Amino acid sequence: MLNIAIFGPPGVGKGTQSKLLIEKYNLAYISTGDILREEIRKETSLGMVAKNIIIKGGLVSDEMIVEIIEKEIDTKLDVYGFLFDGFPRTKVQAYILEGLLLKMHSFLHCMISLEAPENELIERMLARAKKENRKDDIREVIDVRLREYKAKTIPVATFYKEKGVYHPIKGTGSINDINKRLLNVIDKTLKGIRFNVVLLGPPGSGKGTQGKKLAEKFDLTYISTGSLLVKEIANRSEIGDQAREYFEKGIIVPDEIAIQLIENEINKNPNTRGFIFKGIPRNIVQAYILDGLLRKHGTSLSLGINLQVPVLESFKRLSARARSGDPRKYDMKTDLIIHRIEQYISQSKKVNTFYKKRNRMIEVDASGSKNEVFKSLYKVVENAFLKSR
Ligand code: AMP
Repeated sequence: MLNIAIFGPPGVGKGTQSKLLIEKYNLAYISTGDILREEIRKETSLGMVAKNIIIKGGLVSDEMIVEIIEKEIDTKLDVYGFLFDGFPRTKVQAYILEGLLLKMHSFLHCMISLEAPENELIERMLARAKKENRKDDIREVIDVRLREYKAKTIPVATFYKEKGVYHPIKGTGSINDINKRLLNVIDKTLKGIRFNVVLLGPPGSGKGTQGKKLAEKFDLTYISTGSLLVKEIANRSEIGDQAREYFEKGIIVPDEIAIQLIENEINKNPNTRGFIFKGIPRNIVQAYILDGLLRKHGTSLSLGINLQVPVLESFKRLSARARSGDPRKYDMKTDLIIHRIEQYISQSKKVNTFYKKRNRMIEVDASGSKNEVFKSLYKVVENAFLKSR
């Protein structure tokens, strides 16, 4: 997800630039000013209250803003990011935005502030009044709006400066020049946003084979808790010794061990473009843990993929693996295979629902050949990756 707020005084050109940005980055546009003007046009009760405030140049209440923003976000749950214009306009609204994005398991990735001298702003707004007939673009009201901006809105900048996501840029010059400055900031921001995928599916669905290939193609870091455990056990490390017994019986290892494994890998790869997780989450607790770990490291989940194969196919693949040159200890006995599949069936529904609720889950038919499945997966990941850029 890419979430941007465009910031700056009235008349600085936020609306003009926003229109260019939403097209380029495929973002949902939320302009509180536009929403309020629409409410006024439709003569809703909220619009009528807002009208009296707007024509005087004041700010409408934070309560009213929460109401309209929540409504607007609820109609756009399936988007890959938001561009906020005219919001947050007070420090209270900055906290509101934090809460709203937290609910969506995301962040504000950057706030870009357009800066221009006051006399130029006034000139621009007076010129706009002639074109757009905005009732608040008359001289006396402009003065109030600029005063409101200095008193109530500038503190929002401090809030985001402290978070390290505030980027001031020059808002003067041609539309094209300003746009280039904006794109520069956004492209740098995008490079820092990780793309994280969770691969789900029953034992034998090909998560390992496909996960490694996807990681290679998309330049992501592949994290398989199973493979990490194999290494730890072979190295006789402390984690390995704790995990051995569970691992050999095909039982899932305690969550504390899973956390430690994942966190070590995240720390080892500070410059990665993102991760592909395989083997975690195995249950709902681990789904929450993974969310928490990603958030702690300033990132979040981008996509969940469920590899679907019929139970019988799963069973056949695992018993074939037992007879291959690369057998796993837990594939060698039929009752262990059955136990692992049963464990998967009993836990997976909740995990799938967890991600489905967030509209981040895609089902992929994994019953075909390795190449066929990879083709479908590649499309799904590429699509999500491009949409998130
Ligand atoms: P704008 O189109 O962003 O310049 O907004 C026009 C007017 O709508 C402002 O002067 C305010 O009266 C009101 N408004 C827009 N967004 C907000 C907000 N986030 N908080 C309070 N008032 C707002």
